[in-house]
Amino acid sequence: AKEIGGNRTVFYNTEDTDRMNRRIAIEMGLRPALFLRQFHLSYQPIYRLSDGRLKGFEALIRWQHPELGLISPNEFIPIAEYNGLINPIGEWVLREACKMLKGMTTYGLNELTMSVNISPVQLQDASFVQTVWNILQEFGMSRQSLELDITEHSTMHSSKLSITAITQLRAGGVRIALDGFGAGFSSLHHLMDLPVHCLKLDKSYIRRIDLQSAERHVVEAIIGLMRKLGLEVVAEGVEYKEQYELLQKWGCHYVQGYLLGMPLDPTVIDMSMLASCVP
Ligand code: C2E
Repeated sequence: AKEIGGNRTVFYNTEDTDRMNRRIAIEMGLRPALFLRQFHLSYQPIYRLSDGRLKGFEALIRWQHPELGLISPNEFIPIAEYNGLINPIGEWVLREACKMLKGMTTYGLNELTMSVNISPVQLQDASFVQTVWNILQEFGMSRQSLELDITEHSTMHSSKLSITAITQLRAGGVRIALDGFGAGFSSLHHLMDLPVHCLKLDKSYIRRIDLQSAERHVVEAIIGLMRKLGLEVVAEGVEYKEQYELLQKWGCHYVQGYLLGMPLDPTVIDMSMLASCVP
């Protein structure tokens, strides 16, 4: 319990206190984390369903906190968005992921793409688009090899600035994917107004498609519709062979998930894997 004056007392249970302490530790730790090189990226493979070949990777940030251990991006990214640190962190992610892809292209693998998650906060930053061009130029990368994963959230509630940024990036040749489609408030009407190449179907939809479920029909219909609209579809969270086979039957373009490959440390990605087909 804590006295807050005026004869008033606020009661905290230990769970609340633990949660608050953890939040404070994360907030304080985030500031020096970049400088102290506590972040690293994992890379999850994405495969093309038509021929089973590797399409590219999605870069996923990891934070090894000195006391709290490995912290999920689901926990620290919202805090970094809140305090603005997502801008330098996001720039570091972009640079690191582009450096990794550049390393792969030196093996002659020029067709691979790198997907990078972009926070709505980054899209609101007036210098973001220029930062992307600078990084691509720094590594001599083709613009089509970079795919920026944006969330529906960043396009629905956001200012004109984000839509302008997305439009400029797309016009400049970068690929844009709408991430987590189906997870929240998906509006097809809204989707058609967005300059995206690709839709990433959320794993919550994929989870149950191998059962006689409503999701099964919804996913099949979405894939059919997206194909008609000329958009590509990536299914996320593919864990079972049955899901893979159904997605293939329905004409889904790409798959990503533990069945095909976990997010990997860059040190374990080698040439044989890069040239390989679906494991
Ligand atoms: P996301 O973009 O939807 O990324 C996919 C998440 O699903 C990843 O979690 C990945 O490890 C996990 N995943 C992949 N395959 C499977 C599967 O078969 N089954 C299940 N259950 N999960 C699977 P992760 O790495 O913990 O990332 C969580 C979220 O954090 C990401 O969701 C993304 O929204 C965010 N995030 C990650 N890295 C970054 C980043 O660099 N910048 C920003 N702004 N957000 C990031």
